[in-house]
Amino acid sequence: MKKFYTLSDLRDWREDDPPIRLGVFGYPVSHSRSPQMQNAALRASGIAMQYARFEIASSELEEAFSLVREHCFVGVNLTAPHKLSAMKFLDEVDADAAAIGAVNTVTRRGEHLVGSNTDSYGIGEAIPAEFGRALAEFDVLILGGGGAARAIAHRCVAENCRHVRIWNRTESAALALAAQVGGNVEACGDLSAAVQDAELIVNATPVGLRPGDLPFISRDRLRADQLVYDTIYEPARTKLLEEAAAAGARTANGLSMLLFQGARAFELWFDRSAPVAVMRSALEE
Ligand code: NAP
Repeated sequence: MKKFYTLSDLRDWREDDPPIRLGVFGYPVSHSRSPQMQNAALRASGIAMQYARFEIASSELEEAFSLVREHCFVGVNLTAPHKLSAMKFLDEVDADAAAIGAVNTVTRRGEHLVGSNTDSYGIGEAIPAEFGRALAEFDVLILGGGGAARAIAHRCVAENCRHVRIWNRTESAALALAAQVGGNVEACGDLSAAVQDAELIVNATPVGLRPGDLPFISRDRLRADQLVYDTIYEPARTKLLEEAAAAGARTANGLSMLLFQGARAFELWFDRSAPVAVMRSALEE
């Protein structure tokens, strides 16, 4: 299997053994750890298929969907920048994904491509797995107003979290998201005050991916009774997590969210439970 495939590979599709019937579309995509996790799950479940990366630009997305339909794919995952723009090319979007306004998992059902959002499920499972307490028990501060923040905010409302604040670089996006999600979600402009009031802080921005990225919050603003979750998993310890750990706060990175969103996608594709322990070990390798 190649490190990643392109639209021209899909146009001139050659079957592998076992055949590739699943994948992730992104641009760029070579960083994605989904293949190692999903291929381990496929092997452990005795399913003779492979999962591959596809580097697909936004302008290629419509054709790529029609080709995976033609090649009888079971489904695909979507990563940046496709989670919002893909919706218009799908036949259906399920109720959760429609409410969130973003799709990260596509399932082929007959001739239809159906969009779902499993990032929301992913964070809902990741928080208790990491910290031993459900999302519902927290006053949450979400940093960001994009696709990941939307999925997290919706999950917080679905779980009836005590209070949810959203802070975003562009405040209008946080205001729009808070208004759209409803419930006890509010946008905040003052990050320092919001950090003080939060028990659980979740970074849902890409800030921290690059070595020079400065964290939004420094150690002197954080406390030992707070929990900090970064949806980034590469690097495993972002500067935000370093600052939080220095303040004595408990921390976790986004590998658990990746795991649980992937497990839920597997369940949608195959209508059977996912081998979560196998997927976790594959991710940690
Ligand atoms: P997105 O839709 O592009 O949204 C990015 C958000 O980050 C926007 O709110 C943007 O603010 C903010 N942002 C970007 N650059 C910034 C900067 N330099 N300073 C301050 N804010 C900045 O992206 P996304 O899909 O939500 O993904 C966000 C992150 O979540 C990514 O790092 C991704 O890896 C991670 N993620 C992880 C998982 C997982 O399974 N672990 C799943 C999904 C996403 P503006 O509105 O001001 O532009």
